[in-house]
Amino acid sequence: MRIANLSGRLALVSGDGRALDVERAGGGRFSADPQAVYERWDEFRAWAADTTLPDGAAFDPADLGSPAPAPRQLLAVGLNYRGHAAESGFAVPEGLPPVFTKFAGSISGPVTEVALPKGGHTDWEVELVAVIGRRAEHVAEADAWSHVAGLSVGQDISERITQLARPAPQFSLGKSLPGFAPIGPWLVTPDEFENPDDLELRCAINGEEVQKGRTRDLIFSVPTLIARLSALLPLLPGDVLFTGTPAGVGLGREPQRWLADGDVLESAIEGIGELRQTFVAN
Ligand code: ZN
Repeated sequence: MRIANLSGRLALVSGDGRALDVERAGGGRFSADPQAVYERWDEFRAWAADTTLPDGAAFDPADLGSPAPAPRQLLAVGLNYRGHAAESGFAVPEGLPPVFTKFAGSISGPVTEVALPKGGHTDWEVELVAVIGRRAEHVAEADAWSHVAGLSVGQDISERITQLARPAPQFSLGKSLPGFAPIGPWLVTPDEFENPDDLELRCAINGEEVQKGRTRDLIFSVPTLIARLSALLPLLPGDVLFTGTPAGVGLGREPQRWLADGDVLESAIEGIGELRQTFVAN
């Protein structure tokens, strides 16, 4: 099953790319608010599976918002692929990877224009995003996937000067500028994938591929992250988890490369879809 945020309303998206408004199709049983559905995720899944629904309608991808537009918590994981840890000049983390937040005000839909901060070094990080569908507290790895509502594509856009500031790094601020957390194009439930632990992710700037990896190479897999994070704090329905980026970011290049005025960044994950960000000088 795929769900989307279409013009701020929860929609079911069919395999042929048509969208059905959930609030109308259900006669008001479920709210139109895309964020609200995660509180009743099991009930919603059962309803969608058991109900004969009418055909949806075609839509413009520019009208999509984030499938989780207002999570109570957004947790993002750093250094979760060996190649990216190496290009960033860090040792591979043990026990728990570094965790920060992208403040919710930075969340956007999948097709956007992003203003480049003046004098900044703005970088790209394609990432698999997991949205929590069931409160997770002290969850075992073996049970972790059952707490995931679905998967989406995320871009952890990062302004490196702020992120790596001295005397202490400012990961959360440097990664939370307006539009720096595009998510989409929709949410795909884990059962839709042959293996949700092995998906190809890639991104390109102006058609030139800059990142390509597979989620099987995550140092801490989605189930491991949920187990280790939920041992420390509860993960709540609708929370968003950015799982880390593979090698190929601008910071790790020789010479380093930053996003520039007019650049078009396309980020895609196998079996989910694509994001498209156009960057404009401020
Ligand atoms: Zn990241």
